[in-house]
Amino acid sequence: MNAKQLMAVWATTAIVAVQAVNPPWISENRGGTSELGYGFILEPPEYASRIDVSRLFVGILVAFTVGGALFVTFKDGANQPRREQPGCPNCGKPYAPSAKFCNGCGERLA
Ligand SMILES: [Zn+2]
Repeated sequence: MNAKQLMAVWATTAIVAVQAVNPPWISENRGGTSELGYGFILEPPEYASRIDVSRLFVGILVAFTVGGALFVTFKDGANQPRREQPGCPNCGKPYAPSAKFCNGCGERLA
């Protein structure tokens, strides 16, 4: 894990923590349920009956999905193009790092 990946992990953890501390609330009454806004866990909005677990779960799932995508994107070497093979100084034909002579023109390789 590199520094950027560590940042992605911490950012995801922070976003999940914020969501858990400020969950979405739901109000249950005789007419059914209605969604309330997000509110601090120790100070639920007025008329709140319970935490809307499914909405909270979706939010956390989104955070993990984005965090996971960032983690993979930040993987070392994930975005670098493949290094070009060295070419023969005489004819430009690529050669293996262990080659002593060029396959194309027979030029001696340093
Ligand atoms: Zn050559």
